[in-house]
Amino acid sequence: MSLTLNQMAEAARALNGPLFADLPGDLAVSFEFFPPKTPAMQESLWQAVETLVPLAPRFVSVTYGAGGSTRERTHATVARIVQETPIPAAAHLTCVNATAEELDGIADEYWAAGVRHIVALRGDPPGGEAGFQPVPGGYASAAELVAALKRRHDFEISVSCYPETHPEAGSLAADLDALKAKHDAGATRAISQFFFEPDTFFRFRDKVAAAGLDVELVPGILPVSNYANLKKMAVSCGTNLPEWMGRLFDGLDDKPAARQLVAATVAAEMSRRLYAGGVRHFHFYTLNRAELSYAICHLLGVRPAQEFAA
Ligand SMILES: Cc1cc2nc3c(=O)[nH]c(=O)nc-3n(C[C@H](O)[C@H](O)[C@H](O)COP(=O)(O)OP(=O)(O)OC[C@H]3O[C@@H](n4cnc5c(N)ncnc54)[C@H](O)[C@@H]3O)c2cc1C
Repeated sequence: MSLTLNQMAEAARALNGPLFADLPGDLAVSFEFFPPKTPAMQESLWQAVETLVPLAPRFVSVTYGAGGSTRERTHATVARIVQETPIPAAAHLTCVNATAEELDGIADEYWAAGVRHIVALRGDPPGGEAGFQPVPGGYASAAELVAALKRRHDFEISVSCYPETHPEAGSLAADLDALKAKHDAGATRAISQFFFEPDTFFRFRDKVAAAGLDVELVPGILPVSNYANLKKMAVSCGTNLPEWMGRLFDGLDDKPAARQLVAATVAAEMSRRLYAGGVRHFHFYTLNRAELSYAICHLLGVRPAQEFAA
């Protein structure tokens, strides 16, 4: 990994000094939420939104359930964030179980609701169904969806990327080709699947650069709230869980407070090293909880924007 002089100085500072002392907070953050199923989950989501909004995130995004199962709830959540907060809201949208006409209609509804940013994805078939199959008259890939969205409105488009290669991709080269196709179709940012070692992201960044792809890469940071659940997610996402993490979370299942501290430390340390390596935008998978993401942002020097300062 080639480092600029600034990055080398930053890396030395990270190695020699206290990791988190007086960081300037010269970075952008964004947060991902999922649409709540119940009034109680709605309440806790909104508490998380109200806690994180003062950090003036570049945007917040709301996921779109497998197979379009949360179409209405995703729309309602995004629309509420647009109406009730000053923060740009992005809606996730997938190709699964919807025709091109239906997806174009959803895009028009978002545009009419003031949403100017879409996270465009191929998506996964609903639980249990094997392999993605485009519906007749549907979009067959994220790149096709990106092109269709750009044809309809001048949306800002973010897409996904996979530092450890998507489980379905035949090879890293095929994965980079898919990313290039999405970029060529109009996507300007690629948010990464979660990972747990900074070099995983740096190696991927170098490979994307070597492929001549000039797309903004944003690391997706998943603070670990439940290690057992994480193991299941990692298998389905093809994400490597380093053995040291298993040893670190061992014995903490019934100690939520200690587990949170360990989770914040692990994610903050990785984010600090990514920062030392030149990363200046971090995307947090909040799982609709604010504490861990807020603590990590605070450690990285992010403070409430002036208008929110007490
Ligand atoms: C930041 C982020 C946000 C996400 N948000 C959501 C969400 O809100 N809702 C949701 O349901 N899922 C979401 N996902 C998961 C995503 O839908 C799955 O990872 C899905 O399997 C791939 O969708 P994609 O857009 O990343 O696919 P692409 O980037 O188009 O493809 C990923 C890889 O799979 C390969 N591939 C694609 N299609 C095929 C095919 N038909 N046959 C063989 N190989 C193929 C490509 O070559 C590429 O290598 C998200 C993932 C990320 C990283």
